[in-house]
Amino acid sequence: MGKTALITGASRGIGKAVALRLAKDGYDIAVNYNSNTGKAEQTAEEIRAQGVKASIYKADTSNIDEVKAMFKDIRKEFGGLDVLVNNAGVVDDAYLLMINQQSLEKSLAINIQGYINCAQQAALRMAGAGKGVIINVSSVSSVIAVEGQTVYSATKGAVNSMTATMAKELAPRGIRVNAVAPGFIGTDMLKSIPEDLATKYIESIPMKKFGSAEDVANVVASLCSDEFAYMTGQVLVLDGGLSL
Ligand code: NAP
Repeated sequence: MGKTALITGASRGIGKAVALRLAKDGYDIAVNYNSNTGKAEQTAEEIRAQGVKASIYKADTSNIDEVKAMFKDIRKEFGGLDVLVNNAGVVDDAYLLMINQQSLEKSLAINIQGYINCAQQAALRMAGAGKGVIINVSSVSSVIAVEGQTVYSATKGAVNSMTATMAKELAPRGIRVNAVAPGFIGTDMLKSIPEDLATKYIESIPMKKFGSAEDVANVVASLCSDEFAYMTGQVLVLDGGLSL
């Protein structure tokens, strides 16, 4: 296929599932991660087993110098970049009165600045080629109120609005930008929720189950494909009906 996709936060969870799914579609994959080298290498090995290229890149997406170095390395290894999936994110739930400054700053830095850092570097390269796709992983928490998620929902609301603005700016350069907003998805991130709360959440989902990382990966892969060639600036919610 000769196309390359960078997925941030692809050592685990949704990012890993997206990386494997895009590999199945024939993309060579750049696997970004922050700390978990063993799991990132495992993702890369599973990708290579599908017959495409994969390399791992350790970079904190909130650190612009590390992001620039990663894009430079990706260019050396793969040449062009066709797809960026901005996925690396953190959640640290706390009621408004309990939010601490350190956690607030970390969430803003990774969930907002990190997405902008990577989109900027990707757009620089994609604009030269006159084509490209950026997918931002948002959350259903951007459109419904979940107690304890003042910070997280603010960051994901920002992801939705930056998606629209990026899409408008980059459309003339042949770059499409869309977002997916998953509901509750069974990854490590969800494990931080106490069991009684998880049961309460499942009760509130019309489909009565959490989604899987693969459910999200399938939607991301569709948005990357030419089937969606005329769609940009949109947020697709996949949440088992939670937000209805
Ligand atoms: P996860 O299982 O906790 O995995 C997080 C991934 O992000 C890991 O690969 C981690 O790398 C990476 N990461 C964290 N901080 C990073 C940083 N500063 N720089 C680079 N990589 C970083 O999370 P997930 O559930 O798959 O969530 C992925 C995305 O989906 C997030 O944006 C999240 O907000 C969104 N989302 C998740 C759910 C859900 O229910 N799970 C629902 C809606 C939206 P290391 O392994 O190296 O730490």
